[in-house]
Amino acid sequence: MRRRIVAGNWKMNKTAAEAAALVGELRPLVSDVSNVDVVVCPPFTALAAVAPALVGTNIELGAQNMHWEKSGAYTGEVSAEMLLTLGCRYVILGHSERRQYFHETNSEINKKVKAALAAGLTPILCVGETLEEREDGQTETIVKEHVTGGLLGLSPDQVGKVVIAYEPVWAIGTGKTATPDQAQAVHAFIRNVLKQISNSTIAETVRIQYGGSMKPENAKELMGKPDIDGGLIGGAALKADSFAAIVKAAV
Ligand code: PEP
Repeated sequence: MRRRIVAGNWKMNKTAAEAAALVGELRPLVSDVSNVDVVVCPPFTALAAVAPALVGTNIELGAQNMHWEKSGAYTGEVSAEMLLTLGCRYVILGHSERRQYFHETNSEINKKVKAALAAGLTPILCVGETLEEREDGQTETIVKEHVTGGLLGLSPDQVGKVVIAYEPVWAIGTGKTATPDQAQAVHAFIRNVLKQISNSTIAETVRIQYGGSMKPENAKELMGKPDIDGGLIGGAALKADSFAAIVKAAV
């Protein structure tokens, strides 16, 4: 039985003080949850303010991106070690907004996945097709490219340490959610790709989150599907009660 994981991607929202206030609200709402991994991913500038507020709680800290190099002349970037020493355990990699607006490629994302694993961070690798690609019948081709490209060169054991987030781009921030059946079909496909690049035992252990307008009203039905092991939540993660309700739907 895979342990579900619900992560909040706060994107470029919340100052350090606002972020600390949000986790302050969230803490008591999820304190009784013991069988779900709960993760918040504030912007870099709020990590140091949020980390102490999470000590001794069941909420873990994640970041939204990182560079693959350990240090050096990479203005504006942060390394895995910087995140780790601030208390991060997770890092979102290859989010569609990074692919779209910052032109991140599968090969760069692959370097980040490897660097995160080497440092001891759990990558949350985001994959997913655009509306155009779906309408063109390209969903499986694109998703397979994202999964195999992002995980290229990983040993089966390393594949087992990654969390995948299936995020159809057309469902992100649009209010349009993939139906549970649409999402399940792609999740099952991803698990099959994982089987091909590792083995069946490992593929069965990898958590695959759904992301794209997940909210309290649809979370239970989505996570009720056999291959949907949690959620990566954008908009609804910015309100403590909504995010907590999604966490509760995963219990
Ligand atoms: C996301 O960007 O990871 C996301 C799932 O956003 P939203 O929930 O707002 O669609």
